[in-house]
Order: sequence, then C-alpha cells, then structure tokens
Amino acid sequence: MERYRNAFRKKVIPRYYRGKFHVAIFSIIQLSAILIIAPKCEWKISSLLVVLLALGYATTFTYFLHRFLLHRKLPAFGWAFKMHHWHHTFYQSHRMEYDHLDDVYMLLMPPWIQVFYYAVYLPGLVLVAELFLPHYLILPFVFGLTLWYGIYELIHWIEHLPVSHWSMKIPFIKSARQSHAVHHSKLKDVANFGIVEPSWDYILKTKF
Ligand SMILES: [Zn+2]
Ligand SMILES: [Zn+2]
Repeated sequence: MERYRNAFRKKVIPRYYRGKFHVAIFSIIQLSAILIIAPKCEWKISSLLVVLLALGYATTFTYFLHRFLLHRKLPAFGWAFKMHHWHHTFYQSHRMEYDHLDDVYMLLMPPWIQVFYYAVYLPGLVLVAELFLPHYLILPFVFGLTLWYGIYELIHWIEHLPVSHWSMKIPFIKSARQSHAVHHSKLKDVANFGIVEPSWDYILKTKF
C-alpha cells in the first residue's frame, strides 16, 4: 500500500501543491463567509426553519450528485468522475486515513469548486429562492448553504482520520466513519452515498 500510495502521489499531486495552503484557503473563505453573512441575517424562528430547509436541500443535492454524477461517467462530467475515482483509489476501506497533509489533494474539493460555489452556484440558487421566499429569508437561506459546505468538508475530513483519533469516541462520528469506510470498499457504487448523514441512504435503501 505504501509503494502504491507513493506512486499515486507522484502521478496525481502537482509539484506546486501544498496541502497546508489548500486547508488555509478553504478555512479562510468558509469562516469569512459565515462571519459576513450571520450578522446580516434577521434572526427569527422562520429564519432558523429556512436554515434547516437549506441544509435539507443541500444533503439531498449532495446525495444525488455523489450517487449519480461522481459514480457514473456522464458526458461532460468525466473530470468529476476522475477526481472522485482518485479519492476512492487513494483511500480504501482498510486504509481510510491520510499520511501527509498533501494527501488532502485527494480529499478536499479543489479551491476552484469553492469559488464556483460562491460565485455561480449560490447566486443561481438565490435567484430561484427569491421566487418563493420573502426578502428577509434569503440571507438565512444563503447562511444554511454556506454552513453546509463547511460541514460537508469537515465531516468528510473526520471520516478519513485514524480510528484511534479522539473524535471517534463521539458515537455519531464513529458510525459516520464506519459507514463511509463501507462506501470506500467494493460496495462503493451501491452503498452509503450520504457522506454527512444517512437519511437518503435509508429512504432509497442504499444503507449498508
Ligand atoms: Zn471519502
Ligand atoms: Zn464515492
């Protein structure tokens, strides 16, 4: 496995890549977005419900994107399939953890996707949300989706920590890691597509 991983790194990770900068860029963008949006929201019960609605939408979108776009070679999305394939070949069920911080190249989404998320995807969703939600609920909706991006990357990161890590004492984290390890096994194309939480796996019977 060691020799395989070394060869993989040489082949896939660009020479200029530094995992610490990737993690720093991701964290700065996420924290800045949360800190800018949260104080601008008008916080009422309805705002909290809209945050939950946004999280519910996001977990649904993530499940279907993961299952039907990242695990199938669709025309024009071969690059997404390839990136996810790298993730699955580098991290396998018996070796879920990373060795070096640069290995997050095969774990975190690339920075350009984060930029696309905030510059294109979120504004597009806001245009749709404006058709249904009153103006004061738009920012809580954006807040929920911003929160989701951070939660997604954080939980997926934790799922690739060693089993001996202290966070595995938390029951939800332990079962999330076990569940994700099954997704990194031979069952990758049929099992456990919910990376953050398993509700759609239970509904669509892909929970193993
Ligand atoms: Zn994974
Ligand atoms: Zn997958």
